[in-house]
Amino acid sequence: MQFGVYIHFPYCLSKCPYCDFASRAEAVIPQQRYTEAVLRELGARAAQFPGREAVSIYFGGGTPSLWDPPQLGRVLREIRSLWSVRTGAEVTLEANPGTTDEERFAAFRELGVNRLSIGVQSFAPAQLVALGRKHSGGDAVRAFETARAAGFRNVSLDLIHGVERQTKELAASDAASAVALGPEHISCYALTLTGLAEEVPMARALRRGELALPDDEVVSDMGDAVRAELAQGGYARYEISNYARRGREAVHNSLYWRGGEYAAAGCGACGFLREGRGGVRFANDRSPERYMERVERAGTGDASSERVSPDEHLRERIFTGLRLAEGIDLATLERDLDLPVRDRYGEVIARIAGEGLGSFDGVYLRLNDRGLDLHSEVSLRFF
Ligand code: SF4
Repeated sequence: MQFGVYIHFPYCLSKCPYCDFASRAEAVIPQQRYTEAVLRELGARAAQFPGREAVSIYFGGGTPSLWDPPQLGRVLREIRSLWSVRTGAEVTLEANPGTTDEERFAAFRELGVNRLSIGVQSFAPAQLVALGRKHSGGDAVRAFETARAAGFRNVSLDLIHGVERQTKELAASDAASAVALGPEHISCYALTLTGLAEEVPMARALRRGELALPDDEVVSDMGDAVRAELAQGGYARYEISNYARRGREAVHNSLYWRGGEYAAAGCGACGFLREGRGGVRFANDRSPERYMERVERAGTGDASSERVSPDEHLRERIFTGLRLAEGIDLATLERDLDLPVRDRYGEVIARIAGEGLGSFDGVYLRLNDRGLDLHSEVSLRFF
């Protein structure tokens, strides 16, 4: 089973009005104190995940490109001293346009970061304003070029579609602009505001009828248009919202989708430990201040931990495995969890194939493009 390490850095230059992540705009980031907390927590995580070999390390956020490189370097060194890290392991850092300069990127590269994920979201001024982003399309292009100049050969760009007043043509144009830069990986998410916390401004505005988003059908057309642009540019859809050049699929996210283990440190970070046929899930406090206090008091930022039974784990594996275009290997899953998956869900599987949502070759159950677009509904049939 694959293992990775996730580190969360919660600070941003400003808080985007659609954001429900554990993130906070802070004029002065407590770089030293936050780093010390993460270092201390990593020690406790190593005791929970002894003897693992990491295939990926992921710095997510927030905006981890705001982390002072020497402090991030301390964290990377600590990870390498606590676990063995596979040669050529993916080491990703999320970055936002406007938080990037060549010296900083070069320093991250020097420390061993070998993949950047840049939060472009859109190149169009009106869409960036609608999303409350503080950077421009030009900043995004500059961030990408700076990444290349600093030696990054594995760069991912994030896009969002389904924004207020966005059209199918504008969404396609964003995808085309991303393709024109030639990154190795592109993520394209539809803007989702339902089910978010009350304090997320755009979610609140939507509930009050003060914000009108394109309807589902238009968003689905945007998704089709984006996919067509990316396919034409040579990017294969390997997961519902993720596209890559061959061999450049994200190692870290793939680990989540395939039921791997991950240790986590940092405010709001979540970890998963396999235990027997089920596991344990940990979630850290989402407030940076409380997170640091918890670690300083107790050694970890745990706000909750829950046991995941084999049946729950099975459902999660099906839910996440079906996100992948390659599908889910049910024979391996049966051996791993010692559960009769194909017998238990024979009817559901037959119906998925019968309705033209996917295919089953006796081992792999995979959804086609239509099935992937209806992933949540299809997955619910197993629950
Ligand atoms: S930059 Fe990212 S993490 Fe920070 S507030 Fe905006 S969406 Fe959230």
